[in-house]
Amino acid sequence: MDLPAIIADIVAQAATWEDRGTVASYIPELAKVDPGQFGIAVATADGRLIEGGDSATGFSIQSISKVFALTLALGKVGDQLWQRVGREPSGNAFNSIVQLEHEQGIPRNPFINAGAVVVADVNLGGHQPRVAIGEMLRFVRYLAGDDGIAINETVAASETATGFRNMALAHYMRAFGNIRHPVDLVLGTYFHQCAIEMSCRQLALAGRYLMLDGRHPEGGRVVSSSRAKRINALMLTCGHYDASGDFAFRVGIPGKSGVGGGILAIVPGRASIAVWSPGLNENGNSQLGTLALEELARRTGWSVFSPP
Ligand code: GLU
Repeated sequence: MDLPAIIADIVAQAATWEDRGTVASYIPELAKVDPGQFGIAVATADGRLIEGGDSATGFSIQSISKVFALTLALGKVGDQLWQRVGREPSGNAFNSIVQLEHEQGIPRNPFINAGAVVVADVNLGGHQPRVAIGEMLRFVRYLAGDDGIAINETVAASETATGFRNMALAHYMRAFGNIRHPVDLVLGTYFHQCAIEMSCRQLALAGRYLMLDGRHPEGGRVVSSSRAKRINALMLTCGHYDASGDFAFRVGIPGKSGVGGGILAIVPGRASIAVWSPGLNENGNSQLGTLALEELARRTGWSVFSPP
C-alpha cells in the first residue's frame, strides 16, 4: 500500500470539499480560527510518520484531551473509576445534563463533558490545579516525544469566562457527591486540559500507545494491554458523542473528536491517525476530518471489523 500517495490524494481531495462545516463559536476564542485549514498525520506501527496539509499547525485539542485524562485517571484509581463514571454511549449531546438526573449524578461515560469533569476531579487528587495540569502536560509531551506541546492560556481563559454549562454540570454532580473538590478547581483543571494545543503530527505521535497495545514506542508500558483495549473500545462507542454509532458505521475504527476540529483515530496494531479541520458538522465533529478518515479507511481497508 502506498500510504504517502493515499495521504497526498486525501489532502488534494479535501481542498475540493465544499461543505466545510461551521467553526465552534460557543468558546469565543475558537471562533477566530481560520476554517480553511486541513491537516492529517499518520504514525504507523512500523515507525513511519506520514503527513499532509496543515499537519504542523497547532490547534486546540479540546475533547481529545479526555483520552489522555482518562488514561491518567485509570492509572491513579484503576477500575474504581467505574463506580463514578459509566461506560455506555450517551445518545445525547456532549454537554447534556438530562441523564445525570436519572442516573444519580453518574455520567454515562468519560468522554461526554460530565464524565470528563469527574475524571478531572480524580486527576486533581487533592492537589492544586497547576499540579494536575502540569502532570497532564508532561504526560502528553512524553507520549508524543515532544516538549514543545503547551497550553493556550487565551483559550483556557475564554472557556473559563463562558463555560456556564460545564459549571452547571459540575455543580449538579457535586450535589450528588460525585465531585469531591471545589468546582472551580475541577473546572480550572478541565478547561486547561482542553486548551492544550497540538498539531496533527504531535497528536498522531501521542496516540501511538493505543495502537501498540499500551506500549510506548521507545520502550516501556504506558498502560496494560487490556487497558489499551478498553480505552479503544470507549473511543469507538463514545468518542463522537451522539454520532458515535455513525462514525463507527462510516469509518469503523476508534476515534475521539474535539470541538477544535481535531480527531484522533486508532487502528490497533497499525496506525495512530490525527486529522484536523476546524469546521464541525451538526454533531460537533470535524466535517472534513470525518470525511478524510472515511476515505482513508476505505482506501487502506483499515477497520476493527475487517480481517487485517
Ligand atoms: N472544552 C469543551 C467543552 O467542555 C470540550 C468539548 C468538546 O471538545 O467536544 O465544552
